[in-house]
This record gives sequence, structure tokens and C-alpha cells, in this order.
Amino acid sequence: MPTKSTTVTQFRCEKCNAPYPLGADDVIATCPYCGYTFVVGGSEIKHLIIQNKLNPKSVKTAVTKWLALASSKSVGGGVIKDITLEEPTLRWIPIFRVTGQFESYHFGVKKEGSGDNARHIRIEDRDSGEFTEWVIARRHAATFGIDEFIRTLDDRKIKNFEIAHTEGAPVLNSEIDDRDAAKRAHTTRMDRERVELLEKMDKLLDHRLNLNPDTSTYTHAPYWLVRFTYQKGTFRVAVSGATGEILLGELPVTKRYRLKKWFTSIFLLIGSGLLFQVLPYMLLVLFQGSSDSGDIWAIPLIIIAVAGLFWVASIIVLGGALRYEVEVDTEGKERGDRFSITEAIKKVGGK
Ligand SMILES: [Zn+2]
Repeated sequence: MPTKSTTVTQFRCEKCNAPYPLGADDVIATCPYCGYTFVVGGSEIKHLIIQNKLNPKSVKTAVTKWLALASSKSVGGGVIKDITLEEPTLRWIPIFRVTGQFESYHFGVKKEGSGDNARHIRIEDRDSGEFTEWVIARRHAATFGIDEFIRTLDDRKIKNFEIAHTEGAPVLNSEIDDRDAAKRAHTTRMDRERVELLEKMDKLLDHRLNLNPDTSTYTHAPYWLVRFTYQKGTFRVAVSGATGEILLGELPVTKRYRLKKWFTSIFLLIGSGLLFQVLPYMLLVLFQGSSDSGDIWAIPLIIIAVAGLFWVASIIVLGGALRYEVEVDTEGKERGDRFSITEAIKKVGGK
């Protein structure tokens, strides 16, 4: 959690009389001693807890296994022997489970083919039914891997909250109320739908979502964080106590990884240079062979475009070599690796 500039007041539990601090942004609070949970300035609320599957030992085992897999896929497995894991820490993250009815509508176009053969296909659909949306109940939600955490939650292992279930780990308070939760459920679902729709079409012209929430259940979920050191740096791995899964991790950028990026970049640069060099010869050939076909003029233009693409991609890939760490997901894939060749070319080529 980032340090907040909000003031903290001392508070006394209405139920067990124990004193504890309350954050100025806290909207729903839980007594760390007896578990009494209430709306600040209001009354008690019943709430749920998602069971924690892990303990410090099993977290370490899972992280060690993941580090081996993830590093071999990106920065090289050699880093493992120089990694020292710190003690894992557990925290209970406040969330709202919002359910209800939804109605959605979208309309857009997908382009098929190119040039004169291009066709615009109309894509339109409406949908309705029941929804369940998990919403983080913190305003300053910069917790590492929190999006992945929320996305992987389900309610199979859920029970009534008791302080004994929290294993003495910090229980974070909610900074939003259930009305805010419903609003957030809408934003979260809208954003996710938008990303999914844009994968299916080129232009999204209309997108509407109507949510009618009927329940909003306050819940705490187990989130583990493990720090590890490699050489002089510290890195993080987030693990879900709800599923036992690795959510997101950082890996140190090694010399080997850097070298790989350097070489890829140089290779692209040389490719670009070679293409630019053949261009004059290509033009000469085109002038001499007085072909009537107009299409042949597309060839030098394509060469210029590809050469330019390689040139820009080489710079983007080079950017990857200058980083300090990479973010890697459950399967050991680099998350949104904007420095990879495919991502670079996609970005420059406009999808
Ligand atoms: Zn209490």
C-alpha cells in the first residue's frame, strides 16, 4: 500500500472496548481484536471471508516453483541460485461482491480484406442476465497484482467472517460504501467488455451497459506478498490465498536477457538498413521493365513501410533492454511486454 497523507485517529471498539487506530478514509472498519465490523458512524454489518488456503511455507514452495518456471521463460533460469526469499506476508483485502441483473448493447464494425476488396461488417448484439462482479474496496488501490487477484476470485470457499479466521494478519478497512461499490462494478464491467469487444472489431461505435445490483456483500479476501532479493535489488511476487495461484511477479532483468534484446534490436536495425539499400535498385528495375501493371508500384512503397517498421521496432525492443525488472504472470509470460518484437510491430503497424 502506498503511504497516504490521511490522518489516523485513535478509536475504541464498541463491542470489546479495545483501542485501535482508524484511518480518516475508512468507511467500513473491522476491530482487529474481536472482528466487530461496522459502518463508521453507523451500525454493525455482517460480512464474509474467503478462506485462506496457504501458509508461509506453502507460499514459499509455490513461489520457488513459479520462479523456476517464469525465469526460464524470460530472463533465464540462472537467476534462481542467487535469489533469497523473504518471509511471506498475509493481508486481508476488503472487497464487495456485487450481484444483480445486467443489460448490455454494443454496435461496431469489423473490417475484412484490404484495398478495393475491403468490406465493413456490422457487428451488433444485445445481452442480458445475471452478473457477479468483485470490486476492490480501497480508494488507493495500488496493491501489486490486485487486478489479477480480483479477477481470479470466486465464492466457493466463502464463510461468515470471524476474527479467528484471519490468522492474526492485518484486516484492511473499506474506503467505499456499497453505493460506490455498485458504481465501481459498472466501471469494471464496462472496461472489461470494451477490451473484449475491441478484440472482435475495429471500431466500437456504441456500447451501453445497464446494471441493476440487488446484493452487495462486504467480504475479505486473503492476499499474500513475498519479497525476494537478487543481487542488490528487491522484487515482489503476489499470491492469492483464495486460489493458491501466483498472481503477478517481478523478475530481475539479467545480462543474458539484456543481450537478447540488444541482439534483436540490432538485427531489426540491420534488416531495416538492408531494405532501404535495395530500394534504389528496385526502382531502377521498375523503370527499365516498362510494365503496364500499376500494381508494381506498390512494391517500393511496401519496402519503405516495412523498413520503417523494423527501424521503429528496433528502438522499442531496445527499450526492453534498459529496464530493471519485468512483470510476469502465472504462466511465466511477460505481462503486456511492450518491448517484444510482436508487440512492437503491432503497435507501429496499428494492430
Ligand atoms: Zn472489538
